[in-house]
Amino acid sequence: MARRAAALDRRPDVLVVGGGVQGLAAAMACRERGLGRVLLVERDHLAAGPSGSAAGALCPDSHLDVEGAAFVEFARASLARYEALAVEAGPELRLRWLDWLVVGPAGPRLAELSGIQRLGADDVRRLVPGLAIETPGLLLPRGQAHLNPQRLAAVLAARGGTVATGVEYLGMRVAGGRAEAVQTSHGDLQPGAVILATGLAPPGLLPVEQLRFKGHLAATPPRASPLPVVLTAAGGTALAFALSAERAPTQRLRVVVQPGDVGQ
Ligand SMILES: Cc1cc2nc3c(=O)[nH]c(=O)nc-3n(C[C@H](O)[C@H](O)[C@H](O)COP(=O)(O)OP(=O)(O)OC[C@H]3O[C@@H](n4cnc5c(N)ncnc54)[C@H](O)[C@@H]3O)c2cc1C
Repeated sequence: MARRAAALDRRPDVLVVGGGVQGLAAAMACRERGLGRVLLVERDHLAAGPSGSAAGALCPDSHLDVEGAAFVEFARASLARYEALAVEAGPELRLRWLDWLVVGPAGPRLAELSGIQRLGADDVRRLVPGLAIETPGLLLPRGQAHLNPQRLAAVLAARGGTVATGVEYLGMRVAGGRAEAVQTSHGDLQPGAVILATGLAPPGLLPVEQLRFKGHLAATPPRASPLPVVLTAAGGTALAFALSAERAPTQRLRVVVQPGDVGQ
């Protein structure tokens, strides 16, 4: 739901920039952790970027060859969180469980994972009548999933605090290494913490390498102290950081970046 500029909370506890899956999930996580008033701003409409046009496949196992076994474990943990969300949201989310038939060079490494069934040609004919594939090494990862990314955006938005669309992040006014204000197309905001989930962070803002990573599957372990930490970053396309441990006057806020926590 779009908010008029005058109605914007100028001093939210957490400001999330970007209404893609990463920003929406981060906003929901902040609400779940009781971090106070959460405001998400999106310059266009929710899920305007890849998050709205993605295929919606949640297939941890398929990431093995590109991202490696540790990532698969991580993505499976993320999928478990989707499952929990699907139970809570019910038919609204419509998460569907799927088995995947994997054909081709991904086969040999994928076979190393637990829960993968190796198929013969007869098995494939039984599963997919009419499919004429004789390739050896066909694999069947079970327990993968699919959802509609637009529905996901709606479900996350309903749990992520206040959402303001049509509001663009323009920059941060920083003086002496301290953030004074977040500048937007609808005026300055003075949040307690900022999460940038704009795909890639705006150029020049952060002196850390930004890792590029594709996918809806991302999760971070719970943190002992909520702030200042990287709240969500493991997706790599979402780069997040906190400005302050406390809800404090903005002149006292300090930019805190922990590259070691970013998408490693
Ligand atoms: C065709 C396609 C198919 C895909 N299929 C899959 C799939 O099946 N499974 C899977 O896991 N992944 C898939 N992906 C990848 C996945 O969609 C992305 O990795 C993921 O959506 C990235 O989410 P994000 O929130 O980081 O970024 P984005 O979706 O890019 O969201 C960032 C948001 O920030 C907003 N924004 C940017 N700058 C500003 C600003 N200055 N102020 C305010 N707002 C701003 C943008 O408008 C956008 O809405 C696919 C991608 C594509 C392109």
